[in-house]
Amino acid sequence: MISIESIRKDFPILGREVYGKPLVYLDNAATTQKPQCVIDSISDAYRNVNANVHRGIHFLSQEATDMLEAARDNVRRFIGAGSTEEIIFTRGTTESINLLASSFAWAFLKEDDEVLISGMEHHSNIVPWQIQAQRYGFKLKVIPVTDLGELDMDAFDKLLGPKTKLVSITHVSNVLGTVNPVREIVAKAHKLGIPVAVDGAQSVPHISVNIKEMGADFYAFSGHKIYGPTGIGVLFGRRELLEKMPPYQGGGEMIKKVTFQGTTYNDLPYKFEAGTPDYVGSIALGVALDYVQNIGMEQIAGYESELCSYAMQRLGEIPGMRFIGNAPKRSGVVSFLVGNIHPSDMGTLLDRLGIAVRTGHHCAEPLMDRFGIPGTVRASFAFYNTKAEIDTLVAGIERVRQMF
Ligand code: PMP
Repeated sequence: MISIESIRKDFPILGREVYGKPLVYLDNAATTQKPQCVIDSISDAYRNVNANVHRGIHFLSQEATDMLEAARDNVRRFIGAGSTEEIIFTRGTTESINLLASSFAWAFLKEDDEVLISGMEHHSNIVPWQIQAQRYGFKLKVIPVTDLGELDMDAFDKLLGPKTKLVSITHVSNVLGTVNPVREIVAKAHKLGIPVAVDGAQSVPHISVNIKEMGADFYAFSGHKIYGPTGIGVLFGRRELLEKMPPYQGGGEMIKKVTFQGTTYNDLPYKFEAGTPDYVGSIALGVALDYVQNIGMEQIAGYESELCSYAMQRLGEIPGMRFIGNAPKRSGVVSFLVGNIHPSDMGTLLDRLGIAVRTGHHCAEPLMDRFGIPGTVRASFAFYNTKAEIDTLVAGIERVRQMF
């Protein structure tokens, strides 16, 4: 059982007031709040062990390096990957996918090849592929989204073919909350020898992820969405593929030997980590992962699913409520519109009541076009949220509705 009262005390910001009202923070899909242990680990690292990693023979440099590498191993364990060589630290999901798109396209993609994405992708799993498609001439194909907000799997079966060289798909939609059947997608793609990349930005904070079980060849996520700091993220990649892929950026750390005649690259994962890494961010991410593991991912998933169902049920009682995304398998996020109230009006008025939700296209404009809407109001949950906060949201929406 999760003890919410004691968990909430770990997050100092949850005690804040905004406009004289207790903060009700329901924007966790954008970023999560940080527990005190993560905040402390950042200042501890700068106060006690700060030194540039990997290159130094002195004490502090070695200690900082050990802590960074321990964090890498922590990430590996957390997602059930086989080797730390397959764990690349990046700035976040966006950089992870840009690295993947740039490097994978250079190694493997040519004119008339196809990369398959879906109609519910975040811009960060669309635009990096478009940029590379312009360079190499491959085509982007899109799995359509059904009215319920699920992937059209019949269309997926038809789109998957000899020209497909990669499937890159979100695990959980940041708008619809849909949990996609990634194992089924991986199984079908692998049958044809096609690798699969998974955007885990919205899944890793909410669902127990095991890369080996999922079978994904690449998996990307952001530290700040799983209670860690901003500016740190992860790309998991299968070793055989990463070894064939060229570096994303050049500079220090990623080389073995540099001459003006040519350069040899470092081993994995350093080949993909040019320059001084955010070792403090990595260390603090490791602390965040310890924190959630202490509570237990299964516990977190169970509690959040209960919160989500409660939110759907309570919000569903509001006249004029329209949910965008009604998939039965969902996680963390509820998107909606109420009557003719513009989402940004709703968001602004809820803010005045101390309720933080997100409004707009949520970096998924093609998905908004699919549903013929300008945007949604999105409430997104973390394990520190309560049913009482959902009641406050519902009461807030009722108040706004009566004003219109
Ligand atoms: N993918 C999804 C599904 C997301 O929700 C987000 C963040 N909203 C991203 C990618 C991008 O993450 P970041 O901005 O941390 O790089």
